Amino acid sequence: MKRATPALAAVLSQLDAAQLRRHRTTVERRATPGSRVVRLAGGRELTDFSSNDYLGLAGHPALKAAMSECAARAGAGSGASHLVSGHGQEHAQLEEELAAFTGRERALLFSTGYMANLAVMTVLAGGGERVLLDRLSHASLIDGARLSGAAFRRYRHADAQAAADLAAADPGHTCLIATDGVFSMDGDVAPLAQLAHTARSHGAWLVVDDAHGLGVLGATGRGALEVFGLDAEAVPVLVGTLGKAFGSFGAFVAGSASLIELLIQKARTYIYTTALPQPVAAATRAALKVAQAEPWRRERVLALTARFRAAAAAAGVPLSASTTPIQPIVLGDAAAALKAQHALDEAGLWVVAIRPPTVPQGAARLRVTLSAAHTEDQVDELVRHLARACAGAVP
Ligand SMILES: *Cc1c(COP(=O)(O)O)cnc(C)c1O
Repeated sequence: MKRATPALAAVLSQLDAAQLRRHRTTVERRATPGSRVVRLAGGRELTDFSSNDYLGLAGHPALKAAMSECAARAGAGSGASHLVSGHGQEHAQLEEELAAFTGRERALLFSTGYMANLAVMTVLAGGGERVLLDRLSHASLIDGARLSGAAFRRYRHADAQAAADLAAADPGHTCLIATDGVFSMDGDVAPLAQLAHTARSHGAWLVVDDAHGLGVLGATGRGALEVFGLDAEAVPVLVGTLGKAFGSFGAFVAGSASLIELLIQKARTYIYTTALPQPVAAATRAALKVAQAEPWRRERVLALTARFRAAAAAAGVPLSASTTPIQPIVLGDAAAALKAQHALDEAGLWVVAIRPPTVPQGAARLRVTLSAAHTEDQVDELVRHLARACAGAVP
């Protein structure tokens, strides 16, 4: 794009014309515990069905207290990268707790999941090698694959056989298979057992980014891997994020001691960036404790998800196959999804339309997310308004 203001304005008008321009909504106050009502700048209040705060921990008093206490003690900023002088005691302890939680030898904290995925992909894959990715993998896995210099192929969504066929068609080349554990825009769970089998039989790494599964799925909240009973040998590289179910911020990679040590030595998104603030790590440590001490949060968000699905199905709302707290309602074109978003907004419900390129063309949708902090009444109210907003919008 040449440097000229009219050229920028033309790109923006094209986005407007295609109903693909994004807008930010400014929040003044997030939900207080036990409610999902957020107050926007200007004073409007909406019930939030768009955040990834599945366990309702983002506003939990224990997290807030841990963050304040740590800030008073350790300061707001880390001051440097981890390898210079920014690595703090809260980081070190959180890494040990994450390793224990995930049953891995070690864990390494990153500032964001985006950076964790770039790290894993660029360190484990390189030029001359090949990477296989699910077609609906998170953008950060795709960008990581691009940055790695490896050739990459995307297999049909959630189709483990397609991945196995690609690996078998060119034996000896596939060095890594990467997938979301729970797909961020669809809510379905990847066929991890078969992918683990394929990866192992080709000597390839399996990277599972379980941003939306950890804390929510599995008998003890260990995520999608726990659902399938997969251990560290089956899934040697586990990426988790801390800004979703754990209500805080940051991310980690968990794996063998040598994998983590190599990431520390080689991962540019680890080395060349400031360590995340210790108070953030302290809040995450509190979140890990609450999540494990209060399994009712996990049970509740899944029970509310089941309630939502039953009521929505009865009301004729077009559901997808997801049984996780991510419940997409695919409406087709971007205009239809936006129209439904606006209708819900008028009813005081915040459900965001997700449009291309975040989702494929023709698959624009409302992305409903449930939280343990919703009430039954809020869920029922959402279904009533969704039924009205979707009538006529369904392709
Ligand atoms: C949110 C998300 C990320 C990015 O994590 P951040 O910590 O928000 O950068 C990565 N992968 C998946 C599947 C996600 O949903």
